[in-house]
Amino acid sequence: MRRPFVAGNWKMNTTAASGCALAREIAAAVPTSRDAVDVLVAPPLPYLDCVDDELAKSAVMLGAQNCYHEKEGAFTGEVSPQMLADLDVDYVILGHSERRHVLGETDADVNKKVAAALAAGLGVILCVGETLEQREAGETEKVLAEQLSGGLAGLTAEQFTAGPGGNADLVLAYEPVWAIGTGKTATPEMAQEAHAFLRSKLAEGWGDDLAAETRIQYGGSVKPANAADLLAQPDVDGALVGGASLTAENFLPIIEAAF
Ligand code: 13P
Repeated sequence: MRRPFVAGNWKMNTTAASGCALAREIAAAVPTSRDAVDVLVAPPLPYLDCVDDELAKSAVMLGAQNCYHEKEGAFTGEVSPQMLADLDVDYVILGHSERRHVLGETDADVNKKVAAALAAGLGVILCVGETLEQREAGETEKVLAEQLSGGLAGLTAEQFTAGPGGNADLVLAYEPVWAIGTGKTATPEMAQEAHAFLRSKLAEGWGDDLAAETRIQYGGSVKPANAADLLAQPDVDGALVGGASLTAENFLPIIEAAF
């Protein structure tokens, strides 16, 4: 019922040449005829255009890693959701823990971005996740609930699925901070528990239908060796992959695991 969704977050990696070459390899392996799994790559902003060209004849979608919440104006260095839509971006990753913890983004900032991106007709991958300290203090559910309600404050279920461009779609990504780039993966049981909790909170706030339809990706040291076990969990609907999305050799088997 929920179509699996595997996304690669390249973070601040690749060059124009290596990023485009990587996109070309992934595109060749995911032709339009293979559409049972949604696949997306999110390159750094300056490479969106060339990566988009490489993806043209494939089913691979284009993602961005951030945006600002205003349409245009005196916001030096920022990029609006409309600009991303203009570049054929399908989804924007928002609330990633690196933006929260390294760049100081708050739930209120994330909320404004989510609203603006959906209104511009972009899909949103909203990331939530606890730190090791929070997990050890027994605060995982509290943190997830706060990040979810904070990130989606004031938004209705209708806004998660419809926008002027018709492409708006809300996807969640559970990314435990302690599992990101550390080689430590949440066990499939831990991921399932957190995903089921997030789905229950979606149901409480936005209704059972929305909760049943919303895809929740797992992110944090996903690799070919652990992808199948994670993706086999009933509430794990895909993966948001960092390091292992930087080579076709690692990313393609993760996509295969979702079929
Ligand atoms: P890693 O797969 O490198 O742990 O990164 C996960 C992530 O942050 C994806 O957004």
